[in-house]
Amino acid sequence: MSDDVTAETDAVPHHRVVIVGAGFSGIAMAVRLREAGIEDLVILEKAHDVGGTWRDNRYPGCACDVPSRLYSLSFAPKATWSRDFASAGEIWDYLRECVDRFDLRRCLRTGVDVSSARWTGDRWQVAAADGRRWTAGALVLGVGGLHVPVWPDLPGLHDFAGNVVHTADWPDGLDLTGRRVGVIGTGASAVQLVPAIVDEVEHLTVFQRTPSWIVPRHDQPWGAARQRLFARWPITQRLARLRTYAKLEVRVLGFGRLERLRPIVERQILERLARAVPDEATRRALTPDYALGCKRVLLSDDYWPTFARPHVVLETDPIVGVDPGGIVTSAGSRHDLDVLVIATGFDPGGSFERLDVRGQDGKTLGADWVAAGRPTHFGVTVAGLPELYLLLGPNTALGHSSVVLQIESAVRYAVSAILRAERVGPSVVTERAQQRFAAWLRRRTRYTVWASGCRSWYLDSQGRNVTIWPASTVRYRWATRRARPEDFEPAAPRQPS
Ligand code: NAP
Repeated sequence: MSDDVTAETDAVPHHRVVIVGAGFSGIAMAVRLREAGIEDLVILEKAHDVGGTWRDNRYPGCACDVPSRLYSLSFAPKATWSRDFASAGEIWDYLRECVDRFDLRRCLRTGVDVSSARWTGDRWQVAAADGRRWTAGALVLGVGGLHVPVWPDLPGLHDFAGNVVHTADWPDGLDLTGRRVGVIGTGASAVQLVPAIVDEVEHLTVFQRTPSWIVPRHDQPWGAARQRLFARWPITQRLARLRTYAKLEVRVLGFGRLERLRPIVERQILERLARAVPDEATRRALTPDYALGCKRVLLSDDYWPTFARPHVVLETDPIVGVDPGGIVTSAGSRHDLDVLVIATGFDPGGSFERLDVRGQDGKTLGADWVAAGRPTHFGVTVAGLPELYLLLGPNTALGHSSVVLQIESAVRYAVSAILRAERVGPSVVTERAQQRFAAWLRRRTRYTVWASGCRSWYLDSQGRNVTIWPASTVRYRWATRRARPEDFEPAAPRQPS
């Protein structure tokens, strides 16, 4: 491995594998490649620290909504989580600890904003926005599934005189004490943010377009005794993880074949809503009118009760515009605001599309790929893009369990494909394998709750499932247990220039 940073400025360094991104995906990939004997790798990270989404999302209340004993790397258990659902800061610390524990700093380059990659026939040429370059036998994009924030297209937003902040880019030290705050959006970020700021603000208006299904979180701190037990007897922690895994995994049945169970659970949730929100009109406004699970099911014990507070307003009329002093709705109501919080989520896939990636025969991850519904094979490989591996790629997200499980499966698959290429030369997934996967996805999604007719970031503008893995994590693990030779063909040979 070329560790001489000065040499990198003089000549283009070559590595067996270049990994882009140092979040869960990039870290897992680097550890597993090394275990497989591939030491010649470099991790290029855009920011000045590792951590991905857990470094970037710092809004008040930000935490994981999957228990940490499962939302962590299987090969790096942590016995000292402070609670069941760790905060974003604690997960960020965990990822930094992983980098040290697995000695990854020596192959990590931070402050490298990779902007383009070209397949030259036998290697990738990778370029950063500042002009630095690398070449690689294989390129792994661990750039995050939810990285590029979405901003609402609201007339006058730029004229707002107060602070406008996106949850994904929360400024350090923003003081909301005594201020009139508006929150646009009621998804996973907003249900964590709203209860966390409600005591601080003078007045809070939540602008809701669609209400969410919300189930209890029951978050508990981890006592010292449990932490000692897990540290001393790691098997106990593995069993606890397995129990959590099994509990979450059975939920996948509710998204598909056992849809008759759904109304029973929905009824229980609505009973909880009735207890939390005494006012009938507010309760009605908070009641979803689509099937449970169609959009991401959220976890919270304290979101609904905030709407019983006298200084909190739930606004459901569409926003027609923003002016310097606040927001105007279609019913003509005005909301005077000092701070506007945008909690409108992310562009799934945006992190791949922002890169100018060019493979053989003009294949890219750009507009044509998006228009085609972001076709891949298992969310990892793409026809026409040899020796390119996506992590948290299309159709690998989950609605019921930890995406870290999916990342680890995809990593295992990518490592097996890279090892295979060492033996047989650069390879690319076949169109046929990709089409077979696309047909399975279509068939499989048709009978799930995600196709039941709600608007969600799981579907693209044409209503195609481009985000969710529509089956169990066991099935994904099995499907990606190794790269099958029949799914690959040799990359096109280098063309004489
Ligand atoms: P989101 O779930 O996509 O929610 C966006 C919200 O903004 C929705 O309520 C949406 O309404 C609303 N919205 C979007 N555009 C709007 C517009 N133009 N005008 C008014 N409202 C608008 O985004 P998110 O809450 O940031 O969460 C995104 C994903 O990040 C989650 O699903 C989850 O996977 C992940 N996340 C995870 C955690 C965690 O704890 N692990 C925490 C936060 C986020 P509609 O529903 O009507 O579209």
